[in-house]
Amino acid sequence: MKKSTVYEDREEKERRRRERAEARMARHTVLCPHCGKEVLDHMTKCPHCGGELTPAGYRPMDAKKMKILKYVLYGVFIAAAVAVAVVIIVGRL
Ligand SMILES: [Zn+2]
Repeated sequence: MKKSTVYEDREEKERRRRERAEARMARHTVLCPHCGKEVLDHMTKCPHCGGELTPAGYRPMDAKKMKILKYVLYGVFIAAAVAVAVVIIVGRL
């Protein structure tokens, strides 16, 4: 009867694993405001009705922050370009 115990243990493990997976999925599901069906919270469009969804945790960056980031990135790019140009010019001398 030892064999059946091992088998039951495995079945129990599998059942618990499945429950955990389902709980994980449930944490990431929300109801579509358009059709009421379950959709994943990161989706931007409902797969059932095609309605637009707002993904959880998504916050559009505000314009001021975006502008600062743009200037910082331009600055870094220009500095890198100047550095490369200097290395090329100095290397030729
Ligand atoms: Zn929908």
